Amino acid sequence: MTAAGQQSAVDVVGEAGRRRTFAVISHPDAGKSTLTEALALHARVISEAGAVHGKAGRRGVVSDWLAMEQARGISITSAALQFSYGDTVINMLDTPGHADFSEDTYRVLSAVDSAVMLLDAAKGLEPQTLKLFDVCRHRGIPVITFVNKWDRPGREALELCDELVERIGLQPMPLTWPVGEAGQFQGVRDCLDGTFVRYQRTAGGATAAAEERLTPDQAQAEIGADWARAAEEADLLAASGGEFDPARFIAANASPVLFGSAVLNFGVRHLLDVLVELAPRPVPRRDADGNSRALDAPFSAFVFKVQTGMDPSHRDQVAFARVCSGVFERGMVVTNATTGRPFATKYAHQVFGQQRSTLDTAYPGDVIGLVNATALRVGDTLYAGKPTVRYPGLPSFAPGFFSVARPAEVGRAKQFRKGIEQLGSEGVVQVLRSDRRGDAAPVLAAVGPMQFEVAVHRLDTEFGVPVNLESLPYTVARRLDDPVQRSIVDTGRRSEVLSRADGTDLALFTDQHALNVMLRLHPDLVVSSLVAGTD
Ligand code: GDP
Repeated sequence: MTAAGQQSAVDVVGEAGRRRTFAVISHPDAGKSTLTEALALHARVISEAGAVHGKAGRRGVVSDWLAMEQARGISITSAALQFSYGDTVINMLDTPGHADFSEDTYRVLSAVDSAVMLLDAAKGLEPQTLKLFDVCRHRGIPVITFVNKWDRPGREALELCDELVERIGLQPMPLTWPVGEAGQFQGVRDCLDGTFVRYQRTAGGATAAAEERLTPDQAQAEIGADWARAAEEADLLAASGGEFDPARFIAANASPVLFGSAVLNFGVRHLLDVLVELAPRPVPRRDADGNSRALDAPFSAFVFKVQTGMDPSHRDQVAFARVCSGVFERGMVVTNATTGRPFATKYAHQVFGQQRSTLDTAYPGDVIGLVNATALRVGDTLYAGKPTVRYPGLPSFAPGFFSVARPAEVGRAKQFRKGIEQLGSEGVVQVLRSDRRGDAAPVLAAVGPMQFEVAVHRLDTEFGVPVNLESLPYTVARRLDDPVQRSIVDTGRRSEVLSRADGTDLALFTDQHALNVMLRLHPDLVVSSLVAGTD
């Protein structure tokens, strides 16, 4: 047990400076799980051995992580994976994809300091990556790009880089350039010193691929044409604005690019080194009034994700909070800024499994998991000591799924209204209304359909209201800036206008085509894209 008085002896700023807190943004199947595992295992090998060695590690699946955690001291939760790499503590936050893609996936990005955009070399930018990148851009999160699966036939490296510029206006700044086209991967040219890094395949997939450095002359002599081509292409890109500049990365308008293969562990060490050397460390966070709270101010954190157990017999609710300032010590009593009530954190450890020493204390950049946290909501601020602090509330994002909710039984209207209001205020789903539909039939809006499942389940189990959902055909939402133009869109045929509780009028369209037609017919119509709310 550490007394509060001892906190001042801890070098909070130094501890924060050792942290790198990031998330991977990608489309399903780009290799996020493979890369996550490769990063964690690679870091482990380096940290334990102090040098790369070829010890083969079995390529397990994510469910093996608990065993891995015990064997290797890696701490994993459903929200964050923490591991050391040399002196650095890496916090890798999960961005659930596939069927779990939801508003939570976006909210995770409010808790990171940087992101790794993972691209499949054969596919480039894909829809989910684009959506997540949009959120990063809106929040000014610096992005490192990792082009994965270079061991397989794919697109040209230059073409992939062009796509970043043309589709998302992101200047690529290659730190490595692949030698050998996709599928014929021999290694990379280190763009900063011009050397050749040759990767060696290790049987069964090693935890750390063997690497060998060759001078440019040696590479030219050994590799010949592929080397010359790589050098030419990399120089071409550098000459057209792709010269590496760390300031532009931190300003989030250019992205360091690395090429590799997560499954073969090629380029994984390089990515870890870039995270350590270039990725931003935690900085003082601005509160709702725009004031920054110093890293070494007393403890503060904000809740970015709340996970409610779907099993009604276990009303387990876990709140995940990112530490913004001070030291978190398990057992400390903190204040919830939203309610002003105290919150005891004695259960902070449980969620992290058996060996919890790492989570007895947490520093800025770390994620804490609080179980039995039924009083906590996404967006809540927790703090200790003075001054009090409240971080900006939860942002809302552009929804893509819409359903009308109605109670399945008559006579439950009051509970239904109460339940809907509660779920809306917790951010489980967005709740939209219009005069046309009336209060008895609110429209639930979500980023991913799983949010509807959670809402229906909670209305049933917590509020005793079974509900029926009728899905609406809309997929595209825009902000309607001028209420006078409501009647243009609110036709109820291929478009409609609904209002969100934060006062935003959402213009919904069946698809992009319907929106385009509307804009052609009404050139004066002003709609803007919705990304994140005023977070
Ligand atoms: P996620 O959906 O993004 O988490 O993707 P996974 O990590 O599950 O990977 C999807 C598929 O791509 C799996 O079959 C992986 O083995 C494969 N994969 C991942 N990384 C690579 C890579 O670097 N090269 C090749 N050839 N396959 C990969």
